[in-house]
Amino acid sequence: MKKILDYEEMNDLLLSLDKSIIEKCEPIGYSNFGYPIDHYKYGHGDNHVIITAGTHGAELITNVFVVRFMEMLSKKEINIDSDLYTIHFVPFVNPEGTKIVTTAIRSLIPRDISEDQEQTYCLAYYRNAYIEGEYSKQGDKDIKLHQWMFRHATPDLIGGELGKSVFNIINKYNLPKGVMINWSSNGRGVDLNSNIELGEFVDQVSNGEVIYDTLHMNTLRRDLPGPKGRPFYEVKGDIEPENEALFKFYNEINDNHNLIGSFIYHSCGNLVYYLGDENKKNPWNENYGKKEIENTLYVASKYAEITNYKLDGTEPYTTMDTKLKTFFPVTLLVELGGVRATPLSQFMDLDIPGSGDGFKNIYSKVINDNAKAIIETIPYMLEINKTS
Ligand SMILES: [Zn+2]
Repeated sequence: MKKILDYEEMNDLLLSLDKSIIEKCEPIGYSNFGYPIDHYKYGHGDNHVIITAGTHGAELITNVFVVRFMEMLSKKEINIDSDLYTIHFVPFVNPEGTKIVTTAIRSLIPRDISEDQEQTYCLAYYRNAYIEGEYSKQGDKDIKLHQWMFRHATPDLIGGELGKSVFNIINKYNLPKGVMINWSSNGRGVDLNSNIELGEFVDQVSNGEVIYDTLHMNTLRRDLPGPKGRPFYEVKGDIEPENEALFKFYNEINDNHNLIGSFIYHSCGNLVYYLGDENKKNPWNENYGKKEIENTLYVASKYAEITNYKLDGTEPYTTMDTKLKTFFPVTLLVELGGVRATPLSQFMDLDIPGSGDGFKNIYSKVINDNAKAIIETIPYMLEINKTS
């Protein structure tokens, strides 16, 4: 089975699901260029769980994982007690980013290639990014091989207002050819996870500082509108519509139902982040303390145990996800896949002798282990919810 799915393919797949099992609801909001932030629902139980993917457009494995998980539920290949739980899915938190990245992918890798061919593209991308990561350690800022593979990915392929916006950003800031493949931001070049009052680079960007990314991305600037890191569009404090919609959605579920927890998917790192630093004051809620940390850690450890992912409780409190974790405890942030270089490396499903464990069947492990982990972690969310 081919593994990469583009934005349109994922939407087609979602439309094909059994509507009596997975119900499509009204979008939770719309992006700047009119893309819906879709919401799907499974089950009718009193205990609600939210699952989101794709805050960062380049982290395509997260969208594909959540869409495949929904498909498995729809086909009854897996089961969650629908009388006990209601699961809310937001498979594209940043639909513009997903559209930009998958348009770039399709400029080189057509839909109708064989599974093996697809694998060789993913491996080539991974290896090229790896080489650039090594070169970057010597301060190399030359053409990046992994981007160069996608040098014919141009914004006219996206079309519409979104295409125009990406075109303008690339031209105005003289971004490298092939940069669409690394697009984590939304269509006007704002990084949604950084787009928060206390975002990591808010003050530096306001002061006009130059901030470069690292490793194979070391030619990309995080302070300018573009593929990565820019915390606000024009003025400090501007919040993007995707983030407004998501925060409002969480609040609605929490106010009207028994929200027992949520899973936010990013890539990569094979990590489970929970909000756990007792020593630092939580800037959004000073009452967030021991009990919330203990509860979230309990559930996070179960998830980490099932997936063999590493637990991490340190928090810089500078992301949208930290805000969500603060206001809605027992929210886990999971980083899918143990190899770097999104969007393609996590689609490798190779088992080459001698290539090392971190390299083995990455895709299958991501899909299977995390599906199992959601199913087995939800009851612990319920247990914690009942006792607290
Ligand atoms: Zn991310």
